Amino acid sequence: MYALYIQRIKRKKTRVKINYPVVFALVLLVFYKSKKRPVMLTKNFSYDELIHSDKAIELGIENIPNAKQLKALIALTESVLQPLRNAMNFAINISSGFRSPQVNSEVGGSSTSDHLKGQAADLQSVDNAKMFYHIKKHMLFDQLIWEYGDDDQPSWVHVSFDPILDDNKGEVLKMTKDGIFKF
Ligand SMILES: [Zn+2]
Repeated sequence: MYALYIQRIKRKKTRVKINYPVVFALVLLVFYKSKKRPVMLTKNFSYDELIHSDKAIELGIENIPNAKQLKALIALTESVLQPLRNAMNFAINISSGFRSPQVNSEVGGSSTSDHLKGQAADLQSVDNAKMFYHIKKHMLFDQLIWEYGDDDQPSWVHVSFDPILDDNKGEVLKMTKDGIFKF
């Protein structure tokens, strides 16, 4: 009788036994979800920094590229931004990449801006002029603009790249408070 009682307890115990493989899988899932790894387009540039917009966050609007715009962003990153980063010894900050029509009009961008197509980025670093001259001398691009600043350093560098290679016209411009001029 006593032996039977013990046996019943044992059986009960096995019924509430923890299923370790399931718990392990759940812990892993929570761990990976909490890590939120950035999606990298190339070694140094993430998807998030190419679509980031303070204005979009401030206004609570979306700034998400469609497939074609994303393809253009990837081409820009692979063909210009990453090779430029590889040639410089410093980090490059993307102050503006892709802009949805709403974001673009809110920041006062031109209605034909290459930012709308995912083909342009504004770059800032410890040496904006060095980036500008490197792109100008060594790279294929559609438009390169020395934006504001002074004769030594632009405030930022605008560069655009067309995924249709033959359409890259290599135009170099200078934007000042008086207007836009050939560089
Ligand atoms: Zn720009």
